[in-house]
Amino acid sequence: MDDKSKQKILCVLYEDSGKYPPEYSRETIPVLPHYPDGQTMPSPRSIDFTPGHLLGSVSGELGLRRFVTDLGHELIVTSDKDGPGSKFERELPSADIVISQPFWPAYLTAERIARSPNLKLAITAGIGSDHVDLQSAIDANITVCEVTWCNSISVAEHAVMQMLALVRDYIPQYQWVVKGGWNIADAVSRSYDIEGMNVGVVAAGRIGLAVLKRMKPFDVKLHYFDRHRLAPAVEEELGLTFHENVESLVSVCDVVSIHCPLHPETEHMFNDELISKMKRGSYIVNTARGKICDRDAIVRALESGHLAGYAGDVWFPQPAPNDHPWRAMPNHAMTPHTSGTSLSAQARYAAGVREILECWFDGRPIRDEYLIVQGGGLAGAGAHSYTEGNVTAGSADASRYKNRSG
Ligand code: NAD
Repeated sequence: MDDKSKQKILCVLYEDSGKYPPEYSRETIPVLPHYPDGQTMPSPRSIDFTPGHLLGSVSGELGLRRFVTDLGHELIVTSDKDGPGSKFERELPSADIVISQPFWPAYLTAERIARSPNLKLAITAGIGSDHVDLQSAIDANITVCEVTWCNSISVAEHAVMQMLALVRDYIPQYQWVVKGGWNIADAVSRSYDIEGMNVGVVAAGRIGLAVLKRMKPFDVKLHYFDRHRLAPAVEEELGLTFHENVESLVSVCDVVSIHCPLHPETEHMFNDELISKMKRGSYIVNTARGKICDRDAIVRALESGHLAGYAGDVWFPQPAPNDHPWRAMPNHAMTPHTSGTSLSAQARYAAGVREILECWFDGRPIRDEYLIVQGGGLAGAGAHSYTEGNVTAGSADASRYKNRSG
């Protein structure tokens, strides 16, 4: 292999846990035959990792090391991604391929893309490629792709968990137990049944539809808004009410779960004005992207009591600076960005990244459903779910995060 065919792959993953590898609580994860719509699972020629193991942190290396180096390519793995002196910034100018995860995103801004003349492929090890300035990727003819479906059900499960946690007010009740109390009146003073409530999703794509299906047995009234309407048979089977716009949806719902990608049309969709159209005492769950909500509008609505609760796992930027107001706002049930990186999901996206790399090195096409940008335009899943443009402004603020446990 001559030097020209040697590719430099820059892979940004989240920091290791205190102990790597961790002590796993289970031996195996279920083997799924295919995704819910029949799409085949990631299908690399082989894998060099154990499904169910931690692959998304620096030491896990997405299980790529042997595969990449056996082919003579270079693999650099780091979690140091933010700020001018970061390893990511230092290595990027000579990188051919960048791999990044939404949980710990390496923001590929216009400035960074302008300084990366060799960059041809940006792979999202997960779903959601808004951390890439898609307009600049279009202009620079960079292929952007993600592992469609890999963690959609993981996120749907997390969203359902957080809807129930908010409406039943689970977290404060748990805290009474840990503190040693038995304060039932306090514990139930904000606790309701979700049965009979109006529950709506903003976007009914892979995740949104999975949430609707999972909520059906709770005997709630289901609503959705999407720029693509579902088939009449699906609407009928789930008893869905379709809304022509998001204002109509939020005005009737008690619980709203957000599942659209972040792109110029959806950035700050949930601002003061839209939230004012929600019923007093509504709940928002956002496992899509933090920037779909106006950060300070959410805080104001929780403090005034207009919103009864807010949960989700997505923030802007990521990692969230230590003084991010969502860490301290009232009646929230937030997690760090974890929903799509369960150990089960990691096995799928690690295999999916390997499949994409195999295609790239062989000169075979990447699956259409994995594509976001290709050939100077939106493509595949990107053409269906995104609009052109850039939503990375403000991402440099991620450098203000300091790991307090390390
Ligand atoms: P998908 O492409 O299957 O569905 C997206 C849906 O959004 C589509 O139906 C599309 O029509 C709709 N949509 C796009 N723009 C819209 C707009 N302006 N108004 C209304 N609807 C709009 O994708 P998916 O697998 O369901 O994932 C959705 C998003 O969830 C991802 O893009 C990502 O941002 C987020 N996600 C988060 C995690 C996590 O770990 N928290 C993991 C995976 C995905």
